[in-house]
Amino acid sequence: MQPEPKSKQGKATQIIHNRRHRDSFGSPYSPIYNTTTYRFADTASLQEVVEGHTSGNLYTRWGSNPTIQELEQGLARLEGAEDALAFASGMAAISATLFAHGRHGIVCVGDLYGGTQELLTKHLEPLGIPVTFLLKHEPEQLAEALNKPGMLVYCESPANPTLSILDLKKLAQQAHAKGALLAVDNTFASPVNQRPLALGADLSLHSASKFLGGHSDITAGAVMASADRIQPIALWRKNLGQIIAPETAALLSRSLRTLPLRVRQHNENAMAVARAMEAHPAIKQVLYPGLPDFAGHSLAAQQMDGFGGVLTIELKGGRELAVKVADNLSVFLLATSLGGVESLVSQPCATSHYGINQEERERRGITDSMLRLSVGLEDAQDLIADLEQALSQL
Ligand code: PLP
Repeated sequence: MQPEPKSKQGKATQIIHNRRHRDSFGSPYSPIYNTTTYRFADTASLQEVVEGHTSGNLYTRWGSNPTIQELEQGLARLEGAEDALAFASGMAAISATLFAHGRHGIVCVGDLYGGTQELLTKHLEPLGIPVTFLLKHEPEQLAEALNKPGMLVYCESPANPTLSILDLKKLAQQAHAKGALLAVDNTFASPVNQRPLALGADLSLHSASKFLGGHSDITAGAVMASADRIQPIALWRKNLGQIIAPETAALLSRSLRTLPLRVRQHNENAMAVARAMEAHPAIKQVLYPGLPDFAGHSLAAQQMDGFGGVLTIELKGGRELAVKVADNLSVFLLATSLGGVESLVSQPCATSHYGINQEERERRGITDSMLRLSVGLEDAQDLIADLEQALSQL
């Protein structure tokens, strides 16, 4: 992909006008290139492309597809990145990135999505890739863990499901000083609220099944970075066969056009729900970066433009109480995932973090009485009323 010239336009304008298609029918948007392969006039011209003398599309799995490339240009623009890759899922994006940049060792800082943790412990460690988990960013511990050049520091901020915040600038500085790269899973924030590359990170990753897709009807993933960091990831994507389908890519491009608008409303609704829950007598604590009492609030206020659409509530009581509340909700749907227009509730210990043993969950402060709320785009007062009626039945 050609690097994008720096634009003075806002993100909403840029993404709505991302490579506007001009065809003889006057359609402002591109058609979907639902093709696996491309026909050449003769062997000589095919050979020119195979050998890299001429640019051209060869085979969709390799990433050469105009619909996918248009999406990738939009993804790169959103994060101010030179380049981007779209994947069949968030885990596809994460695994390709870890294979491409983590083979000398991966140091994970803070809380992680359960699936990522499972990938690291059940697959990458047994393959001989050294993996270290640090509960938080303690500079001395991190310096000790980064014991050879070419390692990868990997984190989420805000993290799943504790919403804990890491200082991405400081992490990037320390990683770089030790010859390591920093990769940030930016799923919870979305590029509207946070752009890790601008804070010094080298790779920004997304489960595009969440806010980027935004309607709980797309499974996809993305990585944004400089072209030289993207190149080795593209090779893993090609050989692991993790390409996004062109139809899904077109749907995701459509979703991106409303991302800034949707995220602003997610932020506003989540703040209203967090405030209401904070004041509720049945709630022990509310984990939401927008609340002034939240441990990472001031850091989040510095490095984020908005606090996001996800929060976690912890009930006064045990697992059964959390189950009761989840089962009593009706506007919030009982379903795992996040970032869609509809509000969802899930119990991390039974869903996103089920694959992690109880002891490890407790070490990370993920209790059985926690419920993660993905606050959607319904009217905030209906969401608060739904939670209040569910809590009143305890
Ligand atoms: N990263 C985070 C923070 C997630 O919450 C998830 C899924 O819940 C993933 C990555 C994995 O994404 P996907 O389900 O699209 O593979």
